[in-house]
Amino acid sequence: MVFLGRIGDCGDEGWGDGGGMNFAATREEALDQLESFVGVSGRYGRDRNQVVPGHGNVSCLSAAIRHRLVTEWEVAEAPLVRYAASTVEKFRQEVYWRCYWKGWLSLRPQVWDEYLGGIKELEGAGAIREGRGPVGVMNGFADELRETGYLHNHARMWFAAYWVHVASLPWELGAKFFEDHLLDFDPASNVCSWRWVAGLQTPGKTYLPRRGNIEKYLHPDLLDSGGLEVLESPVALMPEGVKRAEVTRVDLPENELPKEGFVLWIHEEDLNPESSVLGGLKPGRIVVTEDGLERSALQREWLGRALDEVVRRVEKHYGVRVERVGSLIEWAEENGVKGVVGMRPEVGYLRDWVGEVRTLDFNLVVRAEDRYLRGFAKGGFFGFWKKLQGKMKTGEFPFERGGSGMLF
Ligand SMILES: Cc1cc2nc3c(=O)[nH]c(=O)nc-3n(C[C@H](O)[C@H](O)[C@H](O)COP(=O)(O)OP(=O)(O)OC[C@H]3O[C@@H](n4cnc5c(N)ncnc54)[C@H](O)[C@@H]3O)c2cc1C
Repeated sequence: MVFLGRIGDCGDEGWGDGGGMNFAATREEALDQLESFVGVSGRYGRDRNQVVPGHGNVSCLSAAIRHRLVTEWEVAEAPLVRYAASTVEKFRQEVYWRCYWKGWLSLRPQVWDEYLGGIKELEGAGAIREGRGPVGVMNGFADELRETGYLHNHARMWFAAYWVHVASLPWELGAKFFEDHLLDFDPASNVCSWRWVAGLQTPGKTYLPRRGNIEKYLHPDLLDSGGLEVLESPVALMPEGVKRAEVTRVDLPENELPKEGFVLWIHEEDLNPESSVLGGLKPGRIVVTEDGLERSALQREWLGRALDEVVRRVEKHYGVRVERVGSLIEWAEENGVKGVVGMRPEVGYLRDWVGEVRTLDFNLVVRAEDRYLRGFAKGGFFGFWKKLQGKMKTGEFPFERGGSGMLF
């Protein structure tokens, strides 16, 4: 089986340095990778859909962005030092798709609960997950996902569309397969993208895996022709009675923060709290946790590296020794800690977990940018993008353009 890339390859053939530092797991690595990518970001709009060995047409920054080693606005602003906004619009737009999905789900948390309800009873599709299905290219994608924790966006679309419309499998089961392996797994981007492919996100719209499209965009070295004939003219399994999901939670709480002496809790949802309002406060103690979500070996390895680095970085920033522990609750009990301050996890497993804890008070902060962008996500993406572009033109957003939290 030919893999489309492996850790250490991402970017090697396009813009990277050929070293093994891809799928950046520290802030420094992410900033270096971003800087290298900026050099070629001008051709992203033209080349991004071409899936090539090493994935040199895209940034491969998604795991770093998802865990906030770098922020979306930092990444989106970076190419502007070199290119006009119109030249890199596609890249910036893609980055903000992520914020859109996040805001969209935050406004409609019931969609996440429905997904969790949907996966409860599901199992199967072992052959396709293990790369032993009837279509060679899809087997290649499944292998790549399991063995690297990454798939190119176009491959994610083809694979999801094949899963739903050709293999006739439940979308939730496919989304769970991605969840179990992606280093960048994100509740909003994953669930909304799978729903979009399945025709649930935008009523009347689905995505199909067409042979002609795959042959056009997948590099010939990677094109396994086995079984491609089943993708000759796929037919959409159009779900019936789809309604737009309603906004059910408009407001997010605004808490008052203590200025000093509190316990700062850092978790995988935001590994860069010092670039938020928390950066200017004076915690008495700092704890970094990796509370027990189930993870693949690769996901654990990536997160382990990221947490090691956040300990060093945050210690330097606050001048306070950081404790890295497995379980927040056990640590709090052992240390007589009754409450913590931290970044607020968005809709997903960690937020659900926080909601169930009874022995600890959480004072959780929403980034001003997240609150602001979320307000634009009530309708479709293009309305979101238009409003945001207007705010970017006037300089209203990002808030700290060129400021201390930003790279450029
Ligand atoms: C079925 C399916 C499932 C997906 N699941 C996830 C997921 O769990 N986590 C995740 O981060 N992305 C997900 N995506 C979106 C997208 O595929 C990845 O963000 C992208 O492939 C990451 O590679 P990159 O960093 O090289 O992206 P680039 O093309 O370099 O884009 C830069 C950044 O923009 C953001 N981005 C780009 N495209 C999208 C998109 N379509 N939607 C949302 N954000 C985007 C990412 O943060 C990405 O790192 C999914 C897409 C599909 C079709």
